Amino acid sequence: MRRIVIVCAVMLTSALVLGQTDLLTVAEKTDYESTSGYNDVMAFINKLKSTSSYIRVESPARTIEGRDLPLMIIANPVPKSPEDLKNDSRIVIYIQANIHAGEVEGKEATLMFVRDLLKDKNPSILKNIVLLICPIFNADGNEKFSIQNRTYQNGPKNGVGVRYNDQFLDLNRDAMKAESPEIKGIITNVLNRWDPAVFMDCHTTDGSYHVEPTTFTWMVNPDGDNSLIAYMRDKMMPEMSGTLFNKYKVENCFYGEFSDMLAPEKGWFFDSSEPRYLTNYIGLRNRLAILNENYVYADFKSRVNGCYYLIKSLTDYINLHKDEIKIMLKAVDRKTVNRGLNPAVTDSFAVEYNVRPVPSPVTIKTFEAELVSEANGRRNFRRTDRQRTVTIPYYIDYYPVKNVKLPFAYIVDIPDPEVIGLLRIHGIKLEKLESITKIIVERFNITELKGESRLNQGHYTNSIKGSFIHDTIEFQSGTVVVRMAQPLANLAAYLLEPESNDGLMTWNYLDRYLVPQWGSGYNPYPVYKVLNKLDIKTVEINK
Ligand SMILES: [Zn+2]
Repeated sequence: MRRIVIVCAVMLTSALVLGQTDLLTVAEKTDYESTSGYNDVMAFINKLKSTSSYIRVESPARTIEGRDLPLMIIANPVPKSPEDLKNDSRIVIYIQANIHAGEVEGKEATLMFVRDLLKDKNPSILKNIVLLICPIFNADGNEKFSIQNRTYQNGPKNGVGVRYNDQFLDLNRDAMKAESPEIKGIITNVLNRWDPAVFMDCHTTDGSYHVEPTTFTWMVNPDGDNSLIAYMRDKMMPEMSGTLFNKYKVENCFYGEFSDMLAPEKGWFFDSSEPRYLTNYIGLRNRLAILNENYVYADFKSRVNGCYYLIKSLTDYINLHKDEIKIMLKAVDRKTVNRGLNPAVTDSFAVEYNVRPVPSPVTIKTFEAELVSEANGRRNFRRTDRQRTVTIPYYIDYYPVKNVKLPFAYIVDIPDPEVIGLLRIHGIKLEKLESITKIIVERFNITELKGESRLNQGHYTNSIKGSFIHDTIEFQSGTVVVRMAQPLANLAAYLLEPESNDGLMTWNYLDRYLVPQWGSGYNPYPVYKVLNKLDIKTVEINK
């Protein structure tokens, strides 16, 4: 019953939109039976460019198959480069869609949103916002349309693309190792250059049954600044949820999955905590991030509609709160730098964490599920028509259970071009020792190093055990030093800490250095920690 009400609301909205323009997305033109191809997206953007002076397009990356990813820069006036924004009061936000190219409503919704925004001669939100949008992030995956992809998804019936890029990489697991041209491009040419304050990544759900067509959540990794996580949890996300429902009439809830489909009262879980996921990665960079997940069993039109109004709810919020956000992010950057200048005993990095419920429960309008089959530990369910509203704990508060000390600096004692190259892609500030220098360090003594037995994103990912011991080591002139007095210090620590679950060690960047060529045991972990403030003579490495 409730679903019928939602569908009617969607039809009304689209009718209004359709009446205002002759430029339609593929989804609109086909009554939501198809989604846009890469050429459709580019043609749509070119049409927008020809009719508005508020849009400029850059290409932050070229895919393996040679497609230039479009980045729409929408502003009044449009900055020629990020340098134009140095003394500008506007805030930069970045919305990305189609990272998983079978999850297509964000692609249609972002295009519709820009079109409708630019219809206005003087869009009021552009007084405060510079909007960056990449509607088709996994462009190669998008072109592999098939009706065999995501067969359980409720449309579009003429098929969607695939999840991975041409390297068979899931781009939403690539944020830390940055092996794909798409991720490398977005980090270097969007995040490092434009430094967006707020990021939103658009997806489609895969699991639990519920009424709400639109769900979303925030960055969660506890090694990101906790005041930013609290701001999202306590203020921005609840307010956006209220706007989406009250102003735009879209039912929504925070994103998660039932831990037990047959017993929803056990809780609503969000289990993607590592920074390999882009939203968590953005959190480590001291910026705000939203994960949008549209409900897979809602019809395509409702999903596009929900995503469209979520973007409106986001821009409404930013329009009202941009000064507050800019001041907050600046303060957090300053706090991070100051911490690195003279780390306190209590400054720590979580190498293990667990999850518990946040203070406020969530309300989900679910449908009871029935068990269809069970084999090899896998259970298959069927949705019933028995709708049931539950208010249950939301397990999304990730908290440390094992910490190590955050240092004053890391010393990377291997001149490995891939390691140094990766740190540079992330925009981490690197320096080198001016001369041979003896330094008191903590070095990590490895007692166990294990690769997973099954490949994950092309890697036998490692885990490591060991302990830190004091040592005094003479480092060669030119050895790389990563000081923690920089805004990207949390990201640097996540990449460099030996016991990190998503760093250089995890993704095999250090493999060849860890085991001696002869004999047994392990070499020292090649990244050392300078724990306390120390006068080290360094020079900045030229970019
Ligand atoms: Zn996805």
